[in-house]
Amino acid sequence: VSIGVLKEIEPRERRVAATPASVGRLVKMGLAVIVESGAGASAGFEDAAYAEAGAQIVPKAADVIREADVITKVRPPGAHPETGEHEADQLRAGQKLISFLWPAQNKELVERLAKRKATVLAMDAVPRITRAQKLDALSATANVNGYRAVIEAASHYGRLLGGQVTAAGRIKPAQVFIIGAGVAGLAAIGAARALGAMVKAFDTRPVVREQVTSMGADFVPFEFQGETGEGQGGYAKEVSDAYLAAEQQLIAEHCRTSDIVITTALIPGKKAPELITSGAVVGMHRGSVIVDLAAEQGGNCALTERDRTVERYGVTIVGHTDLTSRMALQASELYAMTIVNLIDEIMGKKKTWELSLDDEIQRGMLVLLDGELKWPPPRPEIR
Ligand code: NAD
Repeated sequence: VSIGVLKEIEPRERRVAATPASVGRLVKMGLAVIVESGAGASAGFEDAAYAEAGAQIVPKAADVIREADVITKVRPPGAHPETGEHEADQLRAGQKLISFLWPAQNKELVERLAKRKATVLAMDAVPRITRAQKLDALSATANVNGYRAVIEAASHYGRLLGGQVTAAGRIKPAQVFIIGAGVAGLAAIGAARALGAMVKAFDTRPVVREQVTSMGADFVPFEFQGETGEGQGGYAKEVSDAYLAAEQQLIAEHCRTSDIVITTALIPGKKAPELITSGAVVGMHRGSVIVDLAAEQGGNCALTERDRTVERYGVTIVGHTDLTSRMALQASELYAMTIVNLIDEIMGKKKTWELSLDDEIQRGMLVLLDGELKWPPPRPEIR
């Protein structure tokens, strides 16, 4: 079985689905690896390093697709920005693809891949269960994103984050407010605390309180007629309009006393909830910073502009959606290992590509099997 690694075609995407280290692991598993020349260049990995790890380097994407049994990449297949050629159209019948896919949002792409009779596994559909953690690409990505959000905020904030007593005067620690305490939010708490800031966090799932406090942040309490945002399987669900209005008010109060606000609130498969109203931005003091990690899903702040940094009412609002690419080396290392772990799960001791459809992880990620739609998977039995 051979594994192919494509260079990403999205212009701002700098990550790559394999690193020299991950290639080494695949080769050790007895697999052949074929890497498109330049695939790792923007993440800091040269062709020579992949070759040294045992990969065959080929000049073009078409060469990878022709030679490899399993194609791996980061972004969902798309049209080449220069040639217009669509990556999906090049796949062969029975060929396997592993990448982020977002099947619920990309129905046309799924149909396109189905026409090719491809087998497709979506890295964004790894079940969030303990056994699957080593191939949880979403958590690996969110962790890097949360960290980078703090670095972005710090670079726009004109002061130190940590408190100090200096000969020239006292420096007060920055007050950081994190909205949404999932994987990205918790990583942001860790990074902000490490820089010495005072941190508080809010989430509609009360169960995260303990995780927030164990990271050294305060949890903002909120009680609304017994309603919470905890949905099935521990995921967040949409809250009622009345809850949202009350939450917006609570958030506005906390924004007023914060120097940096990082928002990460998402509902799986839905537009991001608007939590910071324009009125709340007006109430913040000049020089404060908002980093909106939900910008790609519409933003948690009413004034966020996707892929831009803007100043509104004296507040800097960062809406960039490429934070993971700004950490391309680290993000690629983690993503590449989730891919290796998935391939290892599938091939196991058999050393051949054989999907187990009764395995919760493989079944959960399977979007197409030789062109046949398998997504969404049947709901697992409630135990
Ligand atoms: P996410 O990125 O989808 O959402 C981020 C956070 O935003 C969530 O914590 C959510 O509760 C919160 N949120 C949603 N609406 C909000 C609102 N109106 N106000 C404030 N906060 C709001 O979440 P994620 O980080 O991908 O994690 C999703 C779930 O999966 C969590 O329950 C997490 O604990 C769980 N998880 C489990 C595993 C595992 O066991 N393998 C791994 C990762 C995550």
